[in-house]
Amino acid sequence: MNETPTRDFIRQIIHDDLESGKHDGIVTRFPPEPNGYLHIGHVMSICLNFGVAEETGGITYLRFDDTNPGKEDKEFVDAIEADVHWLGFDWQDRLTNASDYFGQLYDAAVRLVEMGLAYVDSLTAEETREYRGTLTEPGRNSPYRDRPVEENLDLLKRMRAGEFGDGEHVLRAKIDMASPNMNLRDPALYRIRHVSHQHTGDAWCIYPMYDFAHSLSDAFEGITHSLCTLEFEDHRPLYDWFLDQLKPEHRPRQIEFSRLNLAYTITSKRKLSELIGEGHVAGWDDPRMPTIAGMRRRGYPAPALRDFVRRAGVTKKDKLIEMSMLENSVREALGDAAERRMAVLKPLKVVLTNFPEGQVETMDAMNHPNDPSRGTRTVPFSRELWIEQDDFMEEAPRKFFRLKPGGEVRLRSAYIIQCDEVVKDDDGNVIELRCSYDPETRSGMPKSDRKVKGTIHWVSAEHAVDAQVRLYDRLFTVPNPNTADDYHSVLNPDSLETVAAKLEPALGELAAGEAVQFERLGYFAIDSRDDRADARVFNRVVTLRDSWAKIEKAAMAAEQGGS
Ligand code: ATP
Ligand code: MG
Repeated sequence: MNETPTRDFIRQIIHDDLESGKHDGIVTRFPPEPNGYLHIGHVMSICLNFGVAEETGGITYLRFDDTNPGKEDKEFVDAIEADVHWLGFDWQDRLTNASDYFGQLYDAAVRLVEMGLAYVDSLTAEETREYRGTLTEPGRNSPYRDRPVEENLDLLKRMRAGEFGDGEHVLRAKIDMASPNMNLRDPALYRIRHVSHQHTGDAWCIYPMYDFAHSLSDAFEGITHSLCTLEFEDHRPLYDWFLDQLKPEHRPRQIEFSRLNLAYTITSKRKLSELIGEGHVAGWDDPRMPTIAGMRRRGYPAPALRDFVRRAGVTKKDKLIEMSMLENSVREALGDAAERRMAVLKPLKVVLTNFPEGQVETMDAMNHPNDPSRGTRTVPFSRELWIEQDDFMEEAPRKFFRLKPGGEVRLRSAYIIQCDEVVKDDDGNVIELRCSYDPETRSGMPKSDRKVKGTIHWVSAEHAVDAQVRLYDRLFTVPNPNTADDYHSVLNPDSLETVAAKLEPALGELAAGEAVQFERLGYFAIDSRDDRADARVFNRVVTLRDSWAKIEKAAMAAEQGGS
């Protein structure tokens, strides 16, 4: 896997800024709001922010945007730290919170008031809305806009001292109520909220607004390039306005890039949290979730996620990226790494009528077909076996090269067998195949190279390890659930199928965190939450072949054509 990033427009800007001597070193930040778990979109932002710093010998801050007390949770803070580390990045001693700067931010607000560039407004929320105007109509000045500086300073102090109730006053920047950019129509800087904060406790009852806090926190930390998603493009004039007025020592530059949107899923924390609350998934780390925690639990390797966002690239164009692309990165990462094992997901009993009862042979099976140096393991073989229900067909078409009545097939790493008799229950379901094996077809025997068209996997019934295997599918039935009137209506009811599988004995000892290929079926990994030594639980990480690529392409084309 090639991890060298191509030079996208942001890396070009950074390269130029270093070459021109504008900066000696690059400083970036990843600024999550701890109100949910990180998702695949955040992976892109993390890889970009930490990546550009790493590539240029720069540094990156992990800064929690905790300007919204009450909504934030320690669980989310811990999860975010764990996820960034797991992805392979380290902020070292540069973990900060927007709240670390509450004092400095307040001082900056006082200076804006002193400069006549901020005022305390006392309109009600309703009036504020009316005065703001619309996209087509300019706003109007608040009657409080021309309060003298002294009065503003006094009111601001008293706001801070807790003399007023929530919403009674706000501190606003004095910019331009007629600006075509709504963000410049005297945006709020501070609002009163009598809520304790997880870090500052009850020290404050006024809290800074995001735009104000973000621009200045970037400046305080000496961030050189503040990389954010396109929805902040219209906020950039405000971001710059704070810097223009307050002239901090370091002047960061905000650069926007397009969000990463992944097909067949959603990445809004609010909606993800609803899915959990309503019981559609089992939690933030449900393996169907597009969260880092979910993808990790499912068995996606961190390098696959980094590879995926590198391929998706950094652009200014909004686009929906195919899920197949992510799955290809996962397949590639696992293809070389994962050893091969045999497992039967939907078992059908095979009895070898000419194999002595009670006898057990041990077969040698390669751990990796492309790499003999990874050795072999032994797999027990006996009279009763499990094969996959799908590998037998009673009325098979001519091209069906697996098992059929009277037909032959090779059992991987073992013998050729022939199906002699089909046993059914009273309802006509096939419940057992009575077969005979050819003892001379084992490797090393005279007829070991006898050709048959099909090879299937199997597990010895007596030695099989029982396991619950969870087969995941897309969480949604359409590429872009966000365009549905209600995303609930396009939830995939079959996104999880659980089967009682039979595994070869070696899988009973597999360590958590290690992924394997179940031959012919896909990549699987132990579920880190529910697995127990005496009750194994596996997740399907990804299927072997990309059965979705075509369907997905067609569905995405149809959706784009239709909207
Ligand atoms: P959400 O809409 O899911 O709640 P958010 O943007 O509010 O996401 P933050 O915690 O504020 O979430 O995001 C932290 C950083 O991650 C921000 O810089 C944001 O721009 C970036 N980010 C969030 N979603 C994406 C995405 N889909 N693609 C790229 N970057 C993203
Ligand atoms: Mg946000």
